[in-house]
Amino acid sequence: MWLLTRFILLIGVAHLLEHVLYNGDPSGPDKLSEWLQQGGGDSNAATNDENTEFYFYIEGNYENALSSWSKGFNGGSFTKEDIRRELFAVDSEFINAQSEEQWHYQEQIRKCANPKNPFSRFNMGNLQTMPLSKLDQVTSAATNFYKNNYTADKMFLMLVCNKPLDELGQLAKKHFGWYKNNENPETPDKVPSFTNEHLGKIIWLSSQKNKNLLSIIFPIPKETILRF
Ligand SMILES: [Zn+2]
Repeated sequence: MWLLTRFILLIGVAHLLEHVLYNGDPSGPDKLSEWLQQGGGDSNAATNDENTEFYFYIEGNYENALSSWSKGFNGGSFTKEDIRRELFAVDSEFINAQSEEQWHYQEQIRKCANPKNPFSRFNMGNLQTMPLSKLDQVTSAATNFYKNNYTADKMFLMLVCNKPLDELGQLAKKHFGWYKNNENPETPDKVPSFTNEHLGKIIWLSSQKNKNLLSIIFPIPKETILRF
């Protein structure tokens, strides 16, 4: 029952958009899967608390695969039908997650976090937070999310390949150079996910599996995190 109160309208748009872009332009991902099959590679995508990541790996045919992969991001020109199709995919992931203890465990940790920080919220999305009856609203939220966040200043591109660095730089420009900086960046409030009042809690969860687990979780100040 507590979960229902966490189903806020339009939660999960970042995750939905990941699906839409990943499965987006037929001239991109479909062709990519051909290259990946030939080159024994694979690709996938995931949306985490602070980022969405897309990746592929392949042996050989690197530039062809990179070219197809880049088209999958297609400038955000997705349709309402794309959104509708992927809403079902997101909802089905949500339903499957219900049988995963790890998912319930994560949700309990979120519930302990500072409610002013988005980490505290249910974030996967489903057909209750993004209902088909609000398809127009969900589509425009996804379009805005794309415009505000899929911009050069918020994205990292990493190419790993046994080619000279100059060549990799040219490939990056050729296939991703059209991304521009966001001219109107939002500056979200920086609210800590855990403050003293949210710490010092013990959560007991009964497991349906023959599994005993002890987790100790503590926040690390951002300044101490090494970024590469
Ligand atoms: Zn997903």
